[in-house]
Amino acid sequence: MIRTVLHLRRGLPSLSPPLLRHHSAAAIPEPCTQPEVHFNKLFINNEWQDAVSGKTFPTINPSTGEVICQVAEADQADVNKAVKAAREAFRLGSPWRRMDASHRGLLLNRLADAIERDSAYLAELETLDNGKPFAVSYSVDLPNVVKCLRYYGGWADKWEGKTIPIDGDFFCYTRHEPIGVCGQIIPWNFPLLMQAWKLGPALATGNTVVMKVAEQTPLTALYVANLIKEVGFPEGVVNILPGMGPSAGAAIAGHMDVDKVAFTGSTEVGHLIQQAAGSTNLKKVTLELGGKSPNIILSDADLDYAVEQAHFALFFNQGQCCCAGSRTFVQEDIYNEFLERSVERAKRRTVGNPFLLSTEQGPQVDEEQFNKILGYISSGKREGAKLLCGGGAAAERGYFIQPTVFGDVQDNMTIAREEIFGPVMQVLKFKTLEEVMTRANDTKYGLAAAVFTKDIDKAHYVSGGLRAGTVWINCYDVFGAQAPFGGYKASGNGRELGEYGLQNYTEVKTVTIKVPQKNS
Ligand code: NAP
Ligand code: MG
Repeated sequence: MIRTVLHLRRGLPSLSPPLLRHHSAAAIPEPCTQPEVHFNKLFINNEWQDAVSGKTFPTINPSTGEVICQVAEADQADVNKAVKAAREAFRLGSPWRRMDASHRGLLLNRLADAIERDSAYLAELETLDNGKPFAVSYSVDLPNVVKCLRYYGGWADKWEGKTIPIDGDFFCYTRHEPIGVCGQIIPWNFPLLMQAWKLGPALATGNTVVMKVAEQTPLTALYVANLIKEVGFPEGVVNILPGMGPSAGAAIAGHMDVDKVAFTGSTEVGHLIQQAAGSTNLKKVTLELGGKSPNIILSDADLDYAVEQAHFALFFNQGQCCCAGSRTFVQEDIYNEFLERSVERAKRRTVGNPFLLSTEQGPQVDEEQFNKILGYISSGKREGAKLLCGGGAAAERGYFIQPTVFGDVQDNMTIAREEIFGPVMQVLKFKTLEEVMTRANDTKYGLAAAVFTKDIDKAHYVSGGLRAGTVWINCYDVFGAQAPFGGYKASGNGRELGEYGLQNYTEVKTVTIKVPQKNS
């Protein structure tokens, strides 16, 4: 049965217009709730391989806690094999190095086409392994994956160097060259999207890749590996390894023959990645880490809209977003009204089976995150914040948590300082713009921020003062493959997406040629 977007809009009031705009087709298919798993091994040199150790690990369906299947578990020995394959694929004169840039772009476009063809299946598999609602996997994650790969496919033959007028009789120009073998370590909150954000710029610029996917969500990345082979990427250009962070992930970060590592995940592990690079070969490091993003609601904002957007900013993706609006600052004259409406909205949020198209919120990704979030809720209560709704598990089995709202949150409380990564909203009161800007910036993080107001002068003033890589004004979580994303301070190094994203996969070579002025 096919349902229309209109059905989805009625069923899912929390999906904001900016996200729905990304919807590529007019219809959402009724999902198969038990998609078959086709690939569960390591993908090295365009071949499916068991781990050298023979080890496997289970991947879990977070809606039930049951094992979906066993997956091969890479460690140091497999990373060595994958790096060797990626190095060989990067060898001067290899098919990949000799390939026209335009053809690299064509392969990325073909990969996007193959993913688009298999969108419904990939969205089902993502929902099974990660728990996010199918309506979101299908209508948000998948279209954005496709757009990202097409966007970077377009760049492949347009990433140009410069000619530079240096002094003297010289012709000087720059070449944008690939860095080499790139390690990429990705998280579980947007498995397909994070894979595309990493592969797109790396492959457009001619690098080779060894990617470790998150242990919680290995399945969709492996299916995409098969498509990478299908569309014709040469052997060894992309290698995909499921495995654990401290073994496979650390082996990539510390590898002497990996030229660059790109990581998305916790700030804690970000420190380890940078240390590993520092103590080995000084490989280049880009990091996209955590956040505690302020969402500032001024008293002149459209209240209904701001309540809905603040709800979306925090609860989207089960609250598992690095850029979640997890400190909602509300100006004092609308504070009570805003809080009341936010609680009422959170109570209406539909939590449950992520395969139902009416579900807004599925389970958290695993038991560890589930327990961690419940621990933060306890700390909020203990430290004196007012629990206004939710606060516990939302089902007998699986890792579902009730949409939770805390009022009277103070800046020094743990729930106002640490990344909860769950469906737990913190609402804080403020009086003046200067005060809220100081408080918003009083964090080690600087990933994103937002301000809601009808006053354009205030919007510019506040957004200019916020120390964050992205500021949304009167909207939240609006992403485009064309616009860069990344963090100030401990939220990261470097930018992903857009033209800026290409810089992090490029070495700049300066070539200077003597030009004799007499030809006699
Ligand atoms: P994490 O440990 O930072 O995981 C991210 C990736 O890094 C995973 O692939 C992970 O492998 C790998 N990793 C872990 N330890 C490593 C090490 N020593 N060396 C190299 N790679 C390593 O995050 P998590 O434990 O899944 O989640 C914990 C918290 O991180 C969350 O509560 C949230 O606050 C934050 N987080 C942020 C993002 C984001 O988008 N910025 C995403 C996910 C989580 P495994 O699969 O074995 O863990
Ligand atoms: Mg899983």
